[in-house]
Amino acid sequence: MATDRCCKRVYDSGRSIIGHPCQLPVTVTRNGEKYCRVHDPVVVEVRDKKRQAKWDAEWRKKEAKWKREEVAMKALELLEKMVYQSVLPQAWDKMAKAVLRGLQKR
Ligand SMILES: [Zn+2]
Repeated sequence: MATDRCCKRVYDSGRSIIGHPCQLPVTVTRNGEKYCRVHDPVVVEVRDKKRQAKWDAEWRKKEAKWKREEVAMKALELLEKMVYQSVLPQAWDKMAKAVLRGLQKR
């Protein structure tokens, strides 16, 4: 009754490289080939697209995180540079004087 079975072969991970015919009952025929609910090419395509979309979304999330980390690192490097070059105390002094001027104008 091979004709009542799916046309695909199943490869159990780590067990066999030859595999065995899929034992699931046929649910659909596409281009003359019989497929089960698992191996139906239309179902497989939808499943692959869903998986790909999930991976793409995860990848975009990771990329955004890496970008944020990169920006944070650059900001830290800049801050460090400013501290080492003593730009920060001067900037602080400038700001403090501006605030004082603002207060004196009142
Ligand atoms: Zn199958």
